[in-house]
Amino acid sequence: MNVLTFSTKEKYELIDITKDIEKFVEGVKEGVCIVYTPHATAGIVINENWDDSVRKDFINLLNKLIPEGKWEHDKIDNNGAAHLKSAIIGPSEVIPIKDGKLQLGRWQSIMFCEFDGPRHERKVYVKVIKCT
Ligand code: ZN
Repeated sequence: MNVLTFSTKEKYELIDITKDIEKFVEGVKEGVCIVYTPHATAGIVINENWDDSVRKDFINLLNKLIPEGKWEHDKIDNNGAAHLKSAIIGPSEVIPIKDGKLQLGRWQSIMFCEFDGPRHERKVYVKVIKCT
C-alpha cells in the first residue's frame, strides 16, 4: 500500500494528485488503481483540472447544495456541511491501468477534495492491483 501525506491550506480546496499517483503504476501492464482517502470531511473526485474555473464551479455548486451552519452536527464540532459534502463525493475512485499508464481521459485529473481545511495532515492510500 502506498500512502500520500500532505497538508491543506484552504477551507475548501481541490488538489491535483494525479502526478503523485502516476509513479505507482509505472511498469504495470494491466491492472487497476484504487485511490482512497480515510477522512470523513474530504473526498476524491476525477474531473477537469486544465482550467481552474471547473474547480471553482465544483466548490460553488457544493456550497449552494450544502450551505454551512444549518446542520445538527454543527452543534458537535461545527462541520456538518463538510461531512455531507464528503459523503456525496465519496472517499475513492478506481482507475484502470494499461501499459504503465492510468487510463484517464485527456482532461481528467484525480483530485483530493478538502471540505474542512486547513488541515495539518491528510492522507490518500493508493493500492495498485496487477491483473496480468
Ligand atoms: Zn464533525
